[in-house]
Amino acid sequence: TEYASPHELAELMGVTAKDIIQKCFALGKFVTINQRLDKESIELIALEFGYEAEFISEVEATAVIAEEDAEEDLQTRPPVVTIMGHVDHGKTSLLDYIRNSNVVAGESGGITQHIGAYEVTVDGNRKITFLDTPGHEAFTAMRARGAQVTDIVILVVAADDSVMPQTIEAINHAKAAGVPIVVALNKIDKVEANPEKIKTQLSEAGVLVEEWGGEYQCQEISAKKGLGISELMGKVLTEAEMRELRGNYSAEVPASGIIVESELDKGKGVISTVLVQRGFLKVGDPFVAGNTLGKVRAIMDERGKRIPSAGPSQPVMVLGFEDLPQSGDVLTVMVTDREARDLAQKRQVIRREHDFRRSTRVKLDSIARQI
Ligand code: GDP
Ligand code: MG
Repeated sequence: TEYASPHELAELMGVTAKDIIQKCFALGKFVTINQRLDKESIELIALEFGYEAEFISEVEATAVIAEEDAEEDLQTRPPVVTIMGHVDHGKTSLLDYIRNSNVVAGESGGITQHIGAYEVTVDGNRKITFLDTPGHEAFTAMRARGAQVTDIVILVVAADDSVMPQTIEAINHAKAAGVPIVVALNKIDKVEANPEKIKTQLSEAGVLVEEWGGEYQCQEISAKKGLGISELMGKVLTEAEMRELRGNYSAEVPASGIIVESELDKGKGVISTVLVQRGFLKVGDPFVAGNTLGKVRAIMDERGKRIPSAGPSQPVMVLGFEDLPQSGDVLTVMVTDREARDLAQKRQVIRREHDFRRSTRVKLDSIARQI
């Protein structure tokens, strides 16, 4: 979902488009005057100019209003982690190392297929879910759609390089989303590595590491050699403990989750990676997801093994969608097929009206001056 352009924002706030573009640049974003900005950027920019952005209601606001979770249903759930950082700083290498080491230590058979998220087991029994998204596109796309999926960001910075524009962008995204950051100073095996320099640059970017009296945990690693990775996982788990992450583990509540990514397979139809957030998603459940609907035909783990159900923080592949859902769509289980179909139809009508309105006027409804 994209909203106003710098040009439109400038008019609304009574500043020049150049001011907006420069502010975007300072936030690590390169934009042109008529480029549509995501919600998060607009929130940040508006704040920079002393405004608070207000957006017209999202289509998703018509989603089922989730009931409150009963206290006795809540249990500790695994953290969901996204790895962010500048290109070539080692995000893929780190994800690969974590995935492969877990496979070696754990069950037989590797993760053969590409799945947008996977779960690893640390110290024998503690789980961490990783979102395996190219760069931070999915993170920002999901955020822009109002979906909060990431609990912790691992910020990878190559110790032989510098804090770079995408490092800053990642910091800004994480901070805007209120997501804690754990810093991984990568490529520590290289002779050119200079972790102290990176820590200085990070402090200038508002990320003061713990050993310098700040609040951010930091670990030197080599994704290539596997150095410091288990220490890094330990720090992620510590962060998760401090946040007291909990999920609804009741077998009774209708399950819900977030669509991480989807693809169309010639034989199987739509295959979607779903991160379950509440309750247990079960085979046979009717559901709505964004503009589409379906009935769960099969659930598979990251090894392609069929499982009957999946609970909070568990990433799974789901079959049974009528159409392709979008990343960030909320999947909600409905009691009956009929109920799912009615809601999906209602949403389609709203979506059409919404698209029509968008094409006729600026989507940013109002910007109120902040006291
Ligand atoms: P990404 O763009 O952030 O996903 O970065 P990649 O994981 O693709 O890594 C970029 C390059 O850095 C590759 O050539 C990696 O082999 C190399 N690399 C990643 N981690 C390390 C490390 O810890 N040490 C060294 N020496 N090279 C690394
Ligand atoms: Mg990569």
